[in-house]
Amino acid sequence: MKTKYDLIVVGGGFAGTCAAIEAARHGVDVLLIEKYNCLSGAAAYALVSPFMGHWTHMPGEKGKKYLAGNLFMELCAEAQKLTAPSVDTKTEAIADSLFDEESMKLAMLRMARAAGVTLLFNTTVTAVEAENGVICSVKAVCKAVEMEFSADQFIDATGDAELSYLAGCECEMGREGDGLCQPMTLCFRVGGIDKAKFEPFRPEMQRAYKQWQAEGKLHNPRENVLCFRNYNDGVIHFNTTRVTHKSPTDPFALTEAEIEAREQVHEMMHFLRTAVAGCENARLLSTAMHIGIRESRRVIGEYVLCEEDLISLARFEDAIAVSNYAIDIHSPDGSGTRFQEFKDGEWYEIPYRALLPKGFENLLVAGRCISSTHEAQASYRIMPYCAELGHAAGCAAAVAKKSGKTVRTVDVKEVQRILRAEGFVI
Ligand SMILES: Cc1cc2nc3c(=O)[nH]c(=O)nc-3n(C[C@H](O)[C@H](O)[C@H](O)COP(=O)(O)OP(=O)(O)OC[C@H]3O[C@@H](n4cnc5c(N)ncnc54)[C@H](O)[C@@H]3O)c2cc1C
Repeated sequence: MKTKYDLIVVGGGFAGTCAAIEAARHGVDVLLIEKYNCLSGAAAYALVSPFMGHWTHMPGEKGKKYLAGNLFMELCAEAQKLTAPSVDTKTEAIADSLFDEESMKLAMLRMARAAGVTLLFNTTVTAVEAENGVICSVKAVCKAVEMEFSADQFIDATGDAELSYLAGCECEMGREGDGLCQPMTLCFRVGGIDKAKFEPFRPEMQRAYKQWQAEGKLHNPRENVLCFRNYNDGVIHFNTTRVTHKSPTDPFALTEAEIEAREQVHEMMHFLRTAVAGCENARLLSTAMHIGIRESRRVIGEYVLCEEDLISLARFEDAIAVSNYAIDIHSPDGSGTRFQEFKDGEWYEIPYRALLPKGFENLLVAGRCISSTHEAQASYRIMPYCAELGHAAGCAAAVAKKSGKTVRTVDVKEVQRILRAEGFVI
């Protein structure tokens, strides 16, 4: 078994997969370690779908301007080629929002292998050896087999900052004041829906939902039913359970969250079949195998991206990504969602320093756990921009390797030059 690589990426979500593919395409020898059995992260293990908006409309210009970089668009195009046509989605381009996660898993897998990434699935990184801010190796476990791998550089794309936390990086969680995170949600899919009846009934469904809540028949604190069309005919995707006041990194609290959410799904199914047109024969097809975590640890980096940066559409000398997704905060308290959108033609930049954990020489963070505040994280956390952040981190690791530097001392201008050539709007 080979145990030494140029780069180890931990986590195979949109961030980690893009980081690994990008670095490998630029000649880096990459090992990607993933806890589950496939790539795509929350899209697979938490059933998260569809993509939230990753484009803008420039005033006076026709069409959409896409903002997440070429690699994300390539993933979408490859997944689309593998997706069987669907009567429900004839008119919608997959790259824009809807995607089929089974096709995405295979597309990511093929692209990672074609780039030369070494994949290690069903394996969890459990320990880190670090000395004076340099990570030397990680320990990982699969089927009770313990392994140790070393590398020159590391990328933490675990969503929950597991690699950084194990390495001893300073992390924070939740909002200022009470430390509460955005709620967790167990996503689920419902089949057997007559969409011709269901779609026009949506406003009435929301009224009935409020009524059932008021009568104490639904214990979900969420203010409305959040659901989306799905690639499969007759299937609706529900992103509507809500568990608050539980820490996503406390093992027993997380277990309680899974249990509470599953009971909410059961109540919702009863509600749908009883009170919602088109759902008379609805069946629960699947619940995610892990409750979705919108927010948990955020690494403290050399720069902490904050709400003011977003609102002021900040520009940075060392920008390596952009986002224009709304500040979308599902209430950590119970009911309500803050949704503050950007206007056409607006986006903010994310600096490289937000990917650089304080005090570490050869570690980058990518995806939802980069260095930011609760409010800022609520915006860039969507899958397309996590992909973009991973793409940027992989590029930085490649430039560092080529120049014999570390990700801390790398020439960011060179990273930016490559990213612009690869579709970034920084
Ligand atoms: C309920 C919910 C709804 C959402 N809705 C949307 C939406 O509609 N549209 C949208 O675009 N975004 C949505 N998001 C946000 C988006 O899904 C996530 O923020 C995004 O997927 C994060 O990507 P990531 O690559 O940073 O992390 P993840 O996708 O979480 O990937 C991290 C990967 O690391 C692996 N991992 C973790 N720890 C270890 C370890 N120790 N060893 C090995 N592997 C490890 C995990 O198994 C996982 O595969 C939603 C999120 C949630 C929770």
